Amino acid sequence: MKSKTMLLTGFRKPLEFREIEIPELKEGEILVKIEAAGVCGSDIHMWKGEDPRTPLPIILGHEGVGRIVEIKGDKFSVDGKKLASNDRILWNRGVTCNECYACKILKDPSLCENRKVYGINMSCDDEPYLNGCYSEYIILNPKTDIFRIDEELDPAILVTASCSGATVAHGFDILNESLIGKTVVVQGPGPLGAYSVAFAKELGATNIIVIGGSKARLELCREFGATMTLNRHDLSVEERFKEVMKITNNRGADLVVEAVGVKGVVEEGLKLVRKGGTYLAMGFAQPAGKEEVDFYLDVVNKNINIQGVWVSDTRHTKQAMDLVMKNKDKFSKLITDRFKLEEANEAVKVMDNKDALKAVFTFD
Ligand code: ZN
Ligand code: ZN
Repeated sequence: MKSKTMLLTGFRKPLEFREIEIPELKEGEILVKIEAAGVCGSDIHMWKGEDPRTPLPIILGHEGVGRIVEIKGDKFSVDGKKLASNDRILWNRGVTCNECYACKILKDPSLCENRKVYGINMSCDDEPYLNGCYSEYIILNPKTDIFRIDEELDPAILVTASCSGATVAHGFDILNESLIGKTVVVQGPGPLGAYSVAFAKELGATNIIVIGGSKARLELCREFGATMTLNRHDLSVEERFKEVMKITNNRGADLVVEAVGVKGVVEEGLKLVRKGGTYLAMGFAQPAGKEEVDFYLDVVNKNINIQGVWVSDTRHTKQAMDLVMKNKDKFSKLITDRFKLEEANEAVKVMDNKDALKAVFTFD
């Protein structure tokens, strides 16, 4: 049996269609038929060669929902239920070792030194070859954490929970605070920004202000719960600063969430944080150059906390899935474009041009 795949063999080159022989499963491995796979902003950076983790050739795609075809041996879901063929599942995109310092002592698997991520740092030259979601089938490593999911659901709406949703959940989980009565500014109205708005609303924020450059995306953020949107094409940095100060009695926002990952964003964001407030940086998933920061004025003088957020762990995937399940209609609007796997180059193009907020591959 073979699996259709779309391979990245050279940076900025069209993905190549190839059929890969499905190997015999090893103990603990799971063969999954993919039902929906997301095209993430990270995939575009990888396609361009901007992500240092990318091995070639590779099957991209780290966000997937699928159905179990075969399991070699016994395997249980994260809630302890025995998995069987035909179960519909979503899995944590990162596979961690549970043996390194971060896993064992820090208890922070998102920092695992041996973290393997489907579609990101696993080449299709390495066994079991089907290591990414731009594929008809994927083979999951025995250490993968797996969630069983609802049969009734449109599988496309959950794919974002496994990456952008989980990363945002991680940020709010680290903060571990109620946002009741607070003002939150979100920089960037993409999938990370939309999830940030949804989490801020869930945690009780009174004002949720989103800064972005796309009218359509800002509009969608309003549907997710943003109370104000500031279009950076209409308003200068100074004007945006004034708007945030106006709404907070000149104090600044309690929390500013960076969901952009583009050079220059931190300089603006730190100025919007109130004294004693927090800056949560989760948009920089690949190198983007150095930020210019006046540490005296914008950090030390204000006693602010700067918190970085690197990827996520299984608990965050669950938090994101729970949020999506509570807000299915909203999150279905995140999926703006659907493609067949064979149309992968088209999907990469619309994501690269930012014509799509989120493109998803669906399978018959
Ligand atoms: Zn991603
Ligand atoms: Zn580890």
